[in-house]
Amino acid sequence: MTEPDKRPETKPAEPPASLIVGIDLGTTNSLAAAVFEHGPEAIHKPGQGPIVPSVLLRKEGRWVVGEAARAQRTEAPERTVFSVKRLMGRDIQDLAEDLPRLPYTVEAAQRGLVKVRVGDETFTPQELSAEILKAVKREAEEALGMPIERAVVTVPAYFDDAQRQATRDAGRIAGLEVVRIVNEPTAAAIAYGLDEQQRGTVAVYDLGGGTFDISILELSGSVFKVLSTHGDTHLGGDDFDHEVAQEIKRRILADRPDAELERPGPSMLLRKIGEQIKIDLSGADETPFSVELPGQNLQFSDVFAAETLNRLIEPYLDSTLESCRKALDAAGKTPEQIDDVVLVGGSSRIPLVRRKVEGFFGRRPNVSIDPDEVVAIGAGVQGHLLAGGRRDYVLLDVIPLSLGIETLGGTFSKLITANTTIPAQATELFTTYVDNQTGVDLNIYQGEREFVRDCRNLGRFKLKGLPAMPAGLPKVEVAFLVDANGILTVSAVEQRSGQEARIEVIPSHGLTNAEIERIMDEAIEHAVDDLNQRQMVEFRNMAQAVFQGIEKAWPEAEEMLPKAQRVRIRAQMEMVKRAAAGENPIALRFEMDQLGELTRPLADTNMGRAALTELRKFFEDHSGDEHDSG
Ligand code: AMP
Repeated sequence: MTEPDKRPETKPAEPPASLIVGIDLGTTNSLAAAVFEHGPEAIHKPGQGPIVPSVLLRKEGRWVVGEAARAQRTEAPERTVFSVKRLMGRDIQDLAEDLPRLPYTVEAAQRGLVKVRVGDETFTPQELSAEILKAVKREAEEALGMPIERAVVTVPAYFDDAQRQATRDAGRIAGLEVVRIVNEPTAAAIAYGLDEQQRGTVAVYDLGGGTFDISILELSGSVFKVLSTHGDTHLGGDDFDHEVAQEIKRRILADRPDAELERPGPSMLLRKIGEQIKIDLSGADETPFSVELPGQNLQFSDVFAAETLNRLIEPYLDSTLESCRKALDAAGKTPEQIDDVVLVGGSSRIPLVRRKVEGFFGRRPNVSIDPDEVVAIGAGVQGHLLAGGRRDYVLLDVIPLSLGIETLGGTFSKLITANTTIPAQATELFTTYVDNQTGVDLNIYQGEREFVRDCRNLGRFKLKGLPAMPAGLPKVEVAFLVDANGILTVSAVEQRSGQEARIEVIPSHGLTNAEIERIMDEAIEHAVDDLNQRQMVEFRNMAQAVFQGIEKAWPEAEEMLPKAQRVRIRAQMEMVKRAAAGENPIALRFEMDQLGELTRPLADTNMGRAALTELRKFFEDHSGDEHDSG
C-alpha cells in the first residue's frame, strides 16, 4: 500500500536559470531531486511519487518509459528493455555473466559497443539510458513547471572511465548538460550532511533490487576518497522475491500436488505475490496472502511469517556482510574505525538487514532519508552548490582506477594513480623506437594490474605527422587530463619540432562525437514527429466535436443559411474528414479554419454555440502552432 503523498509543494531554491538537478540513473529505478526553499527533496508531482522505473517498452516506433512500461512488461516481453545500466560502457565479453539473465537480445557492435535489438531495430545502451533520462527530465519539468537543462548524474563508485563516459553521453543525447558525475555512495553521504563533519570514515551499504554495493569512503577536508568497494552485481530484492515465491510454491504443492506452477503465468504471479509479502513484512510480524489460479481451479490462502522470510534471506545477507568484511580489509579498516554507516536501496528497509548491518559495524546506521531517494538527494545538493557557484564547498571525488598507457612488452605504465583527487593532470614524454618514424600508436588503459591484458582498454591514441627524425630524438609530450567528472581527455604534442602533431582518439567503448550528433539529430526529427502526432490527435478530437455541433445546429442552419452555403459547409466537412485521415496537422488545421469561416453564422445560434465557440477559442489557443512545429 502506498501512503498518500503529503510532501509540501514549493519552489526550488535556485532561480530557474541556474537550477541544476541531481539525477540517480538506476538499474531498476531513476529519479531527480533538487534543493527547495525548505530543503533538499526528490522532485515529484503533487500526489505522485518521484520514481521512474528504468524500464522501456517499444511501441509503434516510439518508447514508452517508466511505470507504463513496467506495468506492461509481462504482456510484451519481446519489446521490453530493462537493466540498461548493466550494459553501459561494456563490451560483449564484459557481459558474459549478465547476458544469460537478460531476456532481450544484446549484439556486439563496432568498437566494442553493444546494441540492444528490439524487432528489426537496434539501440546503443547510451540511447536507451537517454530515454530514461528524458523521462525523468520530463517528469521533473512538469512537476517544477520550468525547463531543466543541467544535471548532476550519479554512477556506482566502481564505474570505469568508459562507463562514466557512456553515462555522460546518455545525458547529452537526452538534451541535458551533465555538469558533474558523482559516485553514488558519495552522494548518499552528502545527503546525510556527512560532508559537513570534515573528516571521518563512512560505510555506504546499498542493497537494491538486483545489486549490492558496499563502499568505504574517507572524508578529509573537502575530498571524499573511495577507499574500497565490494559487492555482488547479482544479489538483491529480486532474490528475496524468488525465495518467498519458492516457499509459497512448496506450500501449494503440499496441498495440491497436481498444480502446475512452473509455467510463465503462475511463476510471474507467485513472484509478484512474493514481493508484496516481502514488502508487507517490513512493517509486520506476519501477513496473510492468497493465490488464485482460476484456470487450474486453484485457490490457496495462508499466512507468511517474518521469521520465515528472515530464515530464507539470511544466507544472502551473510554474503553481503562477507563483502563488507572484504571491503574493510581492502581499505585497511576495522568495523570500529567506521564513523558512520549509511543505508541505501529499497531492500535496506527490511528490518533484518538493518539489524545485521548494525551488528556488523557495531553502530546504528543512518536511515532517516528514504533509501530510494537518498542518492538523488545528495546529487541534488551537489547541483545546488554548483549552481550557486560555491565551487570551494563542492566535494571532490577521486579517480577510482589508475590511468595509463601500454609500454614495451605489454606492460601498463600508470600516468595517474587511483585515488588521485580530481580534476587531475599528468604528462609524460615519449619517443620513437625506429628511425624516421612518423606516427606513434598509444594504447590507453585503466586498471591496477601490471600488464595491460589485465586492464581495461579505454581507447587508442594515434599520433600522426611527426617529422622524420632518428629514433629516440622526437619528444612527444602526452598529457592526461581528468576533469571534475572523472572523465579523461588525452592530448599530445611533439616538442622538438614545435610542430603540432595531429591526434586522433578512438574510444574503444563508446560513441564518437559524430555518432552522438547523429543520434541527437534523429531525436530532434522524432521530436517534431511526436509533436505532429500529438497535434493530429488534438485536432481530430476537435473536428469530431465541431461536427457534432454542426449536426446539432443543422435544423437552424436550414432556416438561416442559403442552400449554396449549406452545400459548401457539407463539402468542407468532407475536406476536414480527408485531412483528419492524413498525418499533417497543418493541413487539417487549414481545413478546420475554412470550416470555421463557413459556419461562423451558426456559432451565434443557440444549438451550435457551445461547440462552435469552442472551435473559435481553440483556433485562438493554437494560433502560431505552425511556427512551433516547423
Ligand atoms: P532499488 O533497486 O533501490 O530501487 O530497490 C528496489 C528493491 O527494494 C525491490 O526489490 C523492492 O522489492 C525492494 N523494496 C522496496 N520497498 C521495500 C520494503 N518496504 N521492504 C523490503 N523491500 C523493499
